[in-house]
Amino acid sequence: MRKISAKKIMRSFLAFLLAAALFAGHAEGTAKSAKYIFLFIGDGMGTAQRNAAEVYLAGMREAQGDVAPREAQLTMNLLPVQGFIRTDSLSGVTDSAAAGTALAAGRKTQNGAVAMNPKSGENFVSIAQTARRMGMKTGIVTSSFLQDATPAVFYGHAKKRTEHYALGIQLIDSGYEYFAGGGFRNPKGRDKKSADLYGIAASKGYAVIRDLGKPPAAEKVIAVHPKASNGYMPWVIDERGGPSLADLVDYGIERLDGHDGFFMMVEGAKIDLACHAHDAASAVRETIAFDEAVGRAVKFMERRPEPTLIVVTGDHETGGMTLGSLEEMKNTVYDTLSFQQGSYSVFERRTASQKGEKMTDGVNAAKKFFGPWIIVTPDIEKAFKLSAMDTKKRKTAAANYDKLYSAYDPFTIACMASSNSYCGITWTTFSHTGKHVPVSAAGIQAELFAGEYENTGICDRILSAMDGGEETKRGGR
Ligand SMILES: [Zn+2]
Repeated sequence: MRKISAKKIMRSFLAFLLAAALFAGHAEGTAKSAKYIFLFIGDGMGTAQRNAAEVYLAGMREAQGDVAPREAQLTMNLLPVQGFIRTDSLSGVTDSAAAGTALAAGRKTQNGAVAMNPKSGENFVSIAQTARRMGMKTGIVTSSFLQDATPAVFYGHAKKRTEHYALGIQLIDSGYEYFAGGGFRNPKGRDKKSADLYGIAASKGYAVIRDLGKPPAAEKVIAVHPKASNGYMPWVIDERGGPSLADLVDYGIERLDGHDGFFMMVEGAKIDLACHAHDAASAVRETIAFDEAVGRAVKFMERRPEPTLIVVTGDHETGGMTLGSLEEMKNTVYDTLSFQQGSYSVFERRTASQKGEKMTDGVNAAKKFFGPWIIVTPDIEKAFKLSAMDTKKRKTAAANYDKLYSAYDPFTIACMASSNSYCGITWTTFSHTGKHVPVSAAGIQAELFAGEYENTGICDRILSAMDGGEETKRGGR
């Protein structure tokens, strides 16, 4: 893992800001418009997710003998401008489709709708579409599948986010120069009877690549992670080799950089998935990997004097993650979470494949996977017995089953709850929350992103930055 030198980053930022100020003063009236624009969206990433990742980084540095582990900060938290956005959609607590629509197109909508008003049928124009109309190049990067809600709001429109095939066609028709991530989900449609999306993409000039080492001559590229499964990039905690989200950003910079300028959206999709499952160890690793991707944009900004803008935010918070517990905290976040041997999904598969085993064997396996602090408590025992049951019988065998385990394996959830509270991390829901999420920004016009405002204000402010900082469309909310 890349070791982050917080001081070095801060020093280089100060140098950059000074240079930017001098440059602006020297060439007054010119070069105030953002030309190279990065929008990073950590799906499900609120303050606690960032906070837990920093506590983890500090522990890691301490374990490596660093004398000042407290200085371990995420790159995004070091960006000079910080703000907050409100995240509610027209349906209340938002999903990623409505939140993405607000960020991408500056309009509130109902949950499930992709960049449109599902009642009137009005389609909303995204920043990416505007950038393309202005002649800029456009890239979309995600650790999820390319037709998932967050990437889709930047190129497509749909009444329902599950219209994956139709969104795939819209992706191809967008003509954006760069797509990267887990590839298409169900490329031949759900019934597997439609024309292959990869074939259609190729016929319209896209090079579909799975190896970043071989740059294709094509102007348009769809980069698919070689180890993607069901459209998702592998969990960072499970991954052994293969390009990272940061690598996909670097590759995108190579593809898009030029005189025209570019807009690139980068989504860290699996922070959300980890938090839905209450898997703090995976959430922290995904957040750090997402932050490394932000770091690549910062490197780009440092080596390019031209006007670059970096904006980092989340679409909503997931899980109601909190650093604190009613129980006595007995271990550090780093010591506890670094022990975990893989993502929750690996342990879920193990539990499913070992039905009928003795509880002592199951708990011993959990000790090896989550940590030696897993002991037989009434909660663990109850969950183990439920996991051994037929999926259909489970729900009637325990009161409040859904509130306790949602759709996950009960034994896995109980082990993670035990491990998490052991180091002072707790959760309040398996869903999204209505919490504000932080915004961080650096570069030209970054000061527009300070303060507290609606999530639609992200779109307004980026458009304003593209116009050289003029008043935002809707009065600078
Ligand atoms: Zn979610």
